Amino acid sequence: MNKEVIVKAMVLIIFLILIISNVNYILTPKIEIVKIDPEIPRVFNNPTIELPIKTIKSKAEREANIPSIISDKTIYLTFDDGPSYLTNDILDILQKEKVPATFFVIGNHIDEHSNIVNRAYAEGHTVALHSFTHNYKYIYSNENNYFNDLKLIDDKVYRITGHHSYIVRLPGGSSNTVSKKYNKGIVTRITSTLNNNSYYYFDWNVDSGDASGKLTKEQIIHNIKLNLHHGSNIVLMHDTSAKKSTVEALPEIIKYGKENGYTFARITKNTLKVRHQINN
Ligand SMILES: [Zn+2]
Repeated sequence: MNKEVIVKAMVLIIFLILIISNVNYILTPKIEIVKIDPEIPRVFNNPTIELPIKTIKSKAEREANIPSIISDKTIYLTFDDGPSYLTNDILDILQKEKVPATFFVIGNHIDEHSNIVNRAYAEGHTVALHSFTHNYKYIYSNENNYFNDLKLIDDKVYRITGHHSYIVRLPGGSSNTVSKKYNKGIVTRITSTLNNNSYYYFDWNVDSGDASGKLTKEQIIHNIKLNLHHGSNIVLMHDTSAKKSTVEALPEIIKYGKENGYTFARITKNTLKVRHQINN
C-alpha cells in the first residue's frame, strides 16, 4: 500500500471519529438564552404550587417523623358549609383521635353556633373562610360583591377567634362553571386578586361525594378510600345538618388513614396548594 493511500485513509478515519463523537451536538437544537425581564408581572410571584417551607429539624425530631418522611402521605380533612348542629360531634371524634382538620365556614350559620367555631379554633383546627352568604348569584355577579362577602366572613371569624384567617375556599370550588351565568371571567379575576392580597385559596383532590344527594356512610368511606394517594390528599366533606352519614363515616376514614401510613394535618398557608383548573 503506498504512503499516500495510508495518509488519506487516516485522515478519513479521523474525520469520521470527529463526526461520530459530535453527532449528539450536531443533532441537538441550540438553546437560545433569553434575558429575563426584571419586571416580572406580579401574578408570577404567586405560583399556583407553593412548596411547604422546609425547616431543619434535629435528628431526634426527624426520627420521630420517619413514617411521614418515608410515605409522604398526608390527609387534610376539610369540612365545608358549617358550622351546624353536627360540628360538635365532628370535633368530638377529631379530639378522641387526636386528628386536626380544616373548617370552611359560612357566615349565616355562625351566629347560631359561634361557641362551636371558638371550640374548633381552640382545639387547634383551622377555621377557614368559605363565604358569608354562599349565594352564587350574589358573590359571582361582580368582584365587589365577592370581596364584600369575603370581608364579612373574615370579620366574623376574627371577632370569634381573635385571628384573621387567610385560608379560603370558593363556593363551588375554583373550577365552578355556574359563575359563568353571572359574570364571564369572574373566577379568574377573583383568584388573581386573592393571590395578590395574601389570601391562600384551596380546592380539593379527594371528593367524599357527600354534596350530592344522600350517600350512605359506606359510600362515603368507599369514595375516599378509592381516591387516597401518595402526597397531599385534601378531602372534601360537608358539615351541614343533612350530612349525618359524613359524621358516621369519619371514625373509619381516620382509622383507615392511620393504618395505611397517612399523617393528618390541617391546612395552613404553607400547605401545598391543591387547586383546580379555572373554567371561568
Ligand atoms: Zn360550600
